Amino acid sequence: MNLDHLNKEQQRAATHTEGPLLILAGAGSGKTATMTHRIAYLIEQGVSPYSILAVTFTNKAAGEMRDRVEKLVGPCPGMWIMTFHAMSLRILRGHYYAAGYDKNFVVYDTVDQKTIIKNITKEQNIDSKQYPAAYLLAIISKEKETDSGPEQFLEKSDDSPKAKTIYNVYNEYQRQLKANNAMDFDDLLLNALHVLRDNQDILAQYQHRFRYIMVDEYQDTNHIQYEIIRMLAMAHQNLCVVGDDDQCIYQWRGADIRNILDFEKDFPAAKVIKLEQNYRSCGNILAAAHSVIKNNRGRKAKKLWTEAEAGSPIVYKRCDSDKEEAYYVAQEIDLLCGSGNRSYDDFAVLYRTNAQSRLFEDALKRRRIPYQILSGFSFYERKETKDMICYLRLVVNPTDDLALKRIINEPKRGMGPTTLNKIGALAYVKGKSLFDILSDEDVIYSLPSRASASVKEMMDVIRLCQQEKENLRVSDIYDNLLVKTGYLKALEDENTIEAESRIENLLDFKSFIFDFEEEKANSGEKATLEEFLERVATDSDTDKYDDKSGKVTLMTMHSAKGLEFPIVFMPGMEDGLFPGHRAMDSENGIEEERRLCYVGMTRAKERLFLTSAAYRVLYGQGDYTRESAFLRELDKSLLHEAGDTVYEPSRRTNNRLGVNTGSFDGFSENPPFRPYGFDPLKYAKKAVKESASGSGEEFMHGDRVTHGKFGHGIVVDVDAKTVTVVFEEAGMKKLAKGIAPLKKV
Ligand code: ATP
Ligand code: MG
Repeated sequence: MNLDHLNKEQQRAATHTEGPLLILAGAGSGKTATMTHRIAYLIEQGVSPYSILAVTFTNKAAGEMRDRVEKLVGPCPGMWIMTFHAMSLRILRGHYYAAGYDKNFVVYDTVDQKTIIKNITKEQNIDSKQYPAAYLLAIISKEKETDSGPEQFLEKSDDSPKAKTIYNVYNEYQRQLKANNAMDFDDLLLNALHVLRDNQDILAQYQHRFRYIMVDEYQDTNHIQYEIIRMLAMAHQNLCVVGDDDQCIYQWRGADIRNILDFEKDFPAAKVIKLEQNYRSCGNILAAAHSVIKNNRGRKAKKLWTEAEAGSPIVYKRCDSDKEEAYYVAQEIDLLCGSGNRSYDDFAVLYRTNAQSRLFEDALKRRRIPYQILSGFSFYERKETKDMICYLRLVVNPTDDLALKRIINEPKRGMGPTTLNKIGALAYVKGKSLFDILSDEDVIYSLPSRASASVKEMMDVIRLCQQEKENLRVSDIYDNLLVKTGYLKALEDENTIEAESRIENLLDFKSFIFDFEEEKANSGEKATLEEFLERVATDSDTDKYDDKSGKVTLMTMHSAKGLEFPIVFMPGMEDGLFPGHRAMDSENGIEEERRLCYVGMTRAKERLFLTSAAYRVLYGQGDYTRESAFLRELDKSLLHEAGDTVYEPSRRTNNRLGVNTGSFDGFSENPPFRPYGFDPLKYAKKAVKESASGSGEEFMHGDRVTHGKFGHGIVVDVDAKTVTVVFEEAGMKKLAKGIAPLKKV
C-alpha cells in the first residue's frame, strides 16, 4: 500500500501492527487519518477485517472511517468499526442470556429514564423539588460509571435519610428497567463488562476474534470502557490507542485522563509515537490555541508545528449585548459568503451551551442564511418522533410497558390515567406485560366504550406489524403505524401550525429511515427494525451532522470534537459562561474548560472569530459580564480587535439558493424560508398514506406484482387474509393483505 502521503511518524504508527501502541498527539496532527490507514494497511497485509475492532466516538466518525478504509482496500465485511455503546450492544445482543435479559431487550434514552424516575418518586412520596429527576439520574449514572450497584452505593454511604432515599430510588429504578426488559445507556457498557468478566468462554471468543483493536479519542474513555478494551486486548496485546490528553473534555461524564497518561504502565511493552505536525490549521490559529492550553499543568508537554502559512489574525469582538453578538456573527458570515469563494457549510458556530443557540438561529434566519443545528433537544427528543419510536419499539418488544404507556393515549383513545392504572394493576397481579393484558379480548371489552374500539384497533395494527415484520421494510412499518394508529390523522385534524410542523418532523424522520435503509442496501446488509432502533438509541447529535449540507453548522464545542471547518466562530467568551460558573470553583474544572477551549479553537482551518457580549441574558437572567479568562491568556499579538458593528441590511440580493432577498430589512419579521415553489409536505404526506394503505387492489392467481421489499413476483394463492407470492429473488412468501406493499404490474 502506498503510505507516501503520510509523514514518517504517521507511517511508523500505521505499520507498527504487533504489540501495544500509543499515538499521542495534538489536534489536527492526523491521528484519525493515521488510524484509518493503519486499518487499511493491516487488511492489505492479509489480516481479515473480521479480526479488527475499531472504536470511535460517534457513529458518524465510525461511518466515515469505514468509508475511507473501503476506498483504500475495498469492502470489509465483518469488521467492527463502531462506538463503545454500539459495540456493547452488539455483544449483548449475542449474549443477552448471560446478562440476564430476554432477546429483544430495549435501550432507554434520557426521556425514558426521566419518566421512570418521576414515577418512582411519585410512588415513594419523595419530594421532587428536593430530589429532581435529573439529580437522581446523575447520581445513578455516576455510580454506574464505577460499576457500583444500589447495594454498593448503600454500603459506601453514610446511612443518612438522603442516602437511603437515593438507594431506594436506584434500587427500584433498576428493578423496573429489568422488568421492562430494558437497559439504559450506562447499563449497556456495564452489562457488556459483566458478561465478559463473568464468562470466560465468551471473553475468550471475542479475544480470539479481535486480534487487532484500536480506539480513537482514547482520552475520553471512562473506567468501564477502558476495562472492556483492556480485557479484550489481553490475549493478543495488539491494542493501538490514539488520543490527545489536551482534548479530554468528558471528565464530568467519567472520562479518566489517567487512562491515557498511564497507558505505558498498563501495557509496559507499549511503544509511544508522537505526531507533531499539524495539517489542519493556519499558524496563527495553532499558536493561539497553544497559548491557551499551555496554562494547564497536568498535561504532557507538546507543541505542534505547521508548514501552513500564518494566515489571518484571530478576530476578537466585544459586543454590547448577546443580541449584537448574534447579529455580528450572522453579518460576518453574510459578508464572507457574499465576497465569493465561501459556501455556508464552511462555517461553524461553536458555543458552550445549547441555551446560546436561539439568538444565532434568529439572526441567521433574518438574513435567510440556511443553518443546521445540532442540539440535545432536536430530532429524537421531539415529542412526535419519540411517540413513533415507541410504536416501533412495541413491534419489536411487546413487553416494553414504558413505550405502551406512552402511546396508548397518543392519539387520544379515551384511556385516562384511572383506566390505565387499573390495567397496570391487573398486569402487576398477573405478572404480565400491559401488551399481554390488552391482548385479552375480555379486558378490551371491559374498557370504557370509547377506548374499547380504538385500543383494539391500535393493538391490531401493532400485532399485524409484529407478524409481518420480516416481510416489510422499516419504512413500510413506520408508514403503517403512522397512518393506521390514527396518529397522523389526529395531527391533521388539529389543523394548527404547530401540528403541521409536527407532521413535518415526522416526515423528516422518515427520510432518516430511508437513509438508514439505503446505507444498509449499499453495504449489502439487511435493514432490520431491530437494528434501526439500535441506531436510534445509540445515535448522538453529531451523527446527524452533514458536512455537505450547504448550511452553517451550529453546535456545542463538545459535539464538535474530531470535526474541522474552514471558519469557526466561538461566541460567549465570558467568565461564568466559558469557563462556566461551576468550573471556576476548582482548578480541575478550569483545566477541563480550557481543554474544551483548545478543542474549539483547533476545529478551525483558516479563520477563527472569538466574541463576547458585555450584557447577556441566560436562562432568563440578564447580567453584565467580564471577558473570559481564556481571552486574557491568549497571545495578544495574534489578535485583531474588530470595530463597532455597523447595522445594515444584507447587501446581497441573491443568496446561494437563488432566492431573491431584495432590499431586506434585517430586523423585520419574515416568512419562513421556502426555497421551492411547491409544497413538499403535501407530496410526502400523500406518499405515506399510499404506502400504508397498499394499493387497495384485489389480487388473483397469476397476477404479476411488485413488492416494496421483495421486488417482482407472481401471485400463486389468495385467501381471505393473505396473498401468497413467488418472488424472483426472495422465493415464496405468504403476505398479510392490507399491509403488504404489493402492486400489480
Ligand atoms: P483531532 O485531534 O481534532 O481529532 P486528528 O489528529 O485526528 O485531529 P485528522 O482529523 O486525522 O487529525 O487530520 C486533520 C487534517 O489533516 C485532516 O484534514 C487530514 O486529512 C489532514 N492530514 C492528516 N495527515 C496528513 C498528511 N500527512 N498530509 C496532509 N494532510 C494530512
Ligand atoms: Mg481525530
